[in-house]
Amino acid sequence: MTEDSILAALRKRLPASSRQLVLGMGDDAAIYRPRAGQDLVFTTDMMHEGRHFLRGYPAEAVGWKALARGLSDIAAMGAKPEFVLLSLALGPWVRPRWVDAFYTGFLELAAQSKVPLAGGDLARAAHTSMDVMVAGSVPAGDAFRRSGARAGDTIYVSGQLGGGLLGLRSPRHRAARRRHLRPEPRIALGLALRKRRIPSAMMDLSDGLSTDLHRLLVASGVAAELDGPLPVFPGATEDDALHGGDDYELLFTVRPGVRVPATLAGQSLTPIGRVTAGHPGDCLRQGAPLPPLGWDHFRT
Ligand SMILES: [Mg+2]
Repeated sequence: MTEDSILAALRKRLPASSRQLVLGMGDDAAIYRPRAGQDLVFTTDMMHEGRHFLRGYPAEAVGWKALARGLSDIAAMGAKPEFVLLSLALGPWVRPRWVDAFYTGFLELAAQSKVPLAGGDLARAAHTSMDVMVAGSVPAGDAFRRSGARAGDTIYVSGQLGGGLLGLRSPRHRAARRRHLRPEPRIALGLALRKRRIPSAMMDLSDGLSTDLHRLLVASGVAAELDGPLPVFPGATEDDALHGGDDYELLFTVRPGVRVPATLAGQSLTPIGRVTAGHPGDCLRQGAPLPPLGWDHFRT
């Protein structure tokens, strides 16, 4: 296994360049030509062995999830993914078969999402880790932000919550395990919400509803009350839905009077509460304070 052999094998698996991605992998840098009237959005996400995934995880799932995390952020902006860069550091235990399977999972989601791998970096390291940068595009000025919520807005979530944590805890629960290992970024839903101009603010749920909603409320300078029942993933608990990470659903707010369909782009949309004018970040759940107890790498 050499760097050149890995990259040569990888290049054979990549689609040809496109009108926007003028030059993909193989030179010193990729060339991307934006369309007129568009904003570009960028996100980068790391995954580390022992922290975000374990050595025993299926390599396809690690590759899939490494890309899914970034695509979910692009979906949250209401943007269309345009290209992705992947930096991969391989630990001493990694064999060519693992690398091949990792790329299989990564490229499967890339093909499904129509986003080309335009380049990246490759290294040996003490631990296996990866960093995925995704670039997306959106009509100028139309990207959703976390800061757009106002008192009186209704809070919605897509899909069902708690499956990511349930799948981590219960490897034998097949549907939840799939949610945990191969989450589906809500790209089509993000685009549909933008075309209909439904959200006033939006973000994706990666670290758990309580923590991510807190972030949206702080960014918007508002508070919230969650009163309605939550769309809980079958088999998960309400606590899983409130605080479990890795769901990659969309969380958004909607101005009064804006009609929201019950399902959009194949995903259910559930109202779970409303935005209030309290202390920024505060959230009440059925009258009691809801602390942000989701995932935080730096909590001590
Ligand atoms: Mg995010």
